[in-house]
Amino acid sequence: MKYILSLDQGTTSSRAILFDRHGEICAMAQEEFQQFYPQPGWVEHDARDIWRGQLKVARQAMEKLGITAKDVAAIGVTNQRETTVVWDKETGQPIYHAIVWQCRRTAPMIDEIVKQGWTARIKAKTGLIPDAYFSGSKIAWILNNVEGARQKAEEGKLLFGTIDTWLIWNLTQGKAHVTDVTNASRTMLFDIHKKCWDPELLELFKIPACMLPEVKPSSCVYGTTAPYWFGGEIPVAGAAGDQQAALFGQCCFNAGEVKSTYGTGGFMLMNTGKKAVASKSGLLTTIAVGIGDQVEYALEGSVFVSGAVVQWLRDELRLLDASPDSEYFATKVEDTGGVYMVPAFTGIGAPYWNQYSRGMIVGLTRSTTKAQLIRAALEAIAYQTADVCEAMEKDSGIDLKSIQVDGGASKNNFLMQFQSDVLGAVVCRPKCVETTALGAAFLAGLAVGFWKDKEEIKSFWNVDSLFRPTIPEKQRKKMLDGWHLAVDCALRWGDGMKEK
Ligand code: ADP
Repeated sequence: MKYILSLDQGTTSSRAILFDRHGEICAMAQEEFQQFYPQPGWVEHDARDIWRGQLKVARQAMEKLGITAKDVAAIGVTNQRETTVVWDKETGQPIYHAIVWQCRRTAPMIDEIVKQGWTARIKAKTGLIPDAYFSGSKIAWILNNVEGARQKAEEGKLLFGTIDTWLIWNLTQGKAHVTDVTNASRTMLFDIHKKCWDPELLELFKIPACMLPEVKPSSCVYGTTAPYWFGGEIPVAGAAGDQQAALFGQCCFNAGEVKSTYGTGGFMLMNTGKKAVASKSGLLTTIAVGIGDQVEYALEGSVFVSGAVVQWLRDELRLLDASPDSEYFATKVEDTGGVYMVPAFTGIGAPYWNQYSRGMIVGLTRSTTKAQLIRAALEAIAYQTADVCEAMEKDSGIDLKSIQVDGGASKNNFLMQFQSDVLGAVVCRPKCVETTALGAAFLAGLAVGFWKDKEEIKSFWNVDSLFRPTIPEKQRKKMLDGWHLAVDCALRWGDGMKEK
């Protein structure tokens, strides 16, 4: 068997990639799917769309190579994290749209929990900061708001899953109701130290334990695909949340190694090895990977809107025909003319955490141009990551000299150079920026013996480009000062809105 099939179910699109023994991409298929914004700050997906689209692109990738199930050694699944699906065990139909990680609808529920003094306990158990971002409050919302849901859940008729769970359940036609430790660690219901669902948090959110999936390692055989889907059985042997998969795909296997992803959101993760490091600077502690009965931990800075700000310029403001054109416009101007954009469309995540903050553009003048606005959006992506990087340096005590990057927007050379400039550190982009899919493939391939060990995998990793800082320290500081002023405006707006 020559290939590993990776299913990369992202926030805006589903991808399927076939990797060969050398970790090279042999075929890829991708499809965007519909986003639903039923109210300001709310985001939903149709989980049935996600499954259908994911299956379609998987079949397309296999057709491109003219291969069948017997050519595929295993499937690895990676997914947008936290997004919550609740479905009927009998019919397999979701009882509500999937509530997406970006969705803010449960912010008041979280406020209440914070008011009751749960913050420290939640942080100690789950490594997370109470926020509407995580799955726990989203499940509670569905049970509280969909007619008859709570009763059915209590009768054991409903199942919960993050997208990994939903896909594996469908791939195995209901045989496996499982999740992996990395995805479990994003629910705010999972004790990352004891490695089990936490009864006290289940009680807090009134979630019946019988609807939760079984938690497994990230690299193990969860089941096999029903023969109908691909014309034969394929073991499903790897699963991890997209950011943890990218960390693994970037071969950040050692404590202190860092990757930064520029997808819909922006996520910087540092492997901290066997030690769960508690953050004092607004970062999350999360499970990086589980292999066998061992888990490794990571520190994470999550930025809700990263590449998505470019998508907004494209789809809502119609300033761009395609996201990559942002590079052309950004390099047409010297600077933004003092304009800063804070893309807090769904609140601000790390390291500030403000659920009610919203987007802001400051410093506009009559001469502000379209190109400057576009440049301000790209710069914002880099500034947000710089804030996370600073927090990570504080928490870990490590001075980050270089970071490894990936994700759709990491292909933007202007953005990567600007990132290097505002960080004052080297930005290293690997040849394969599909590290999320690659990480899931690695996990699946290791589980079935397609690859021997991490050493073998590491030999596949190659540099594409290095971006080195080019601006003086004084200029860097001035730019960051302006950014922090802009963030301050967005935070104050958030605080004001919360009062209302
Ligand atoms: P996800 O996996 O979260 O769906 P991707 O890693 O595919 O996201 O990245 C897609 C995001 O990156 C989109 O929001 C898109 O606007 C942005 N993007 C893609 N290419 C570029 C580019 N060349 N410059 C800037 N942004 C880009």
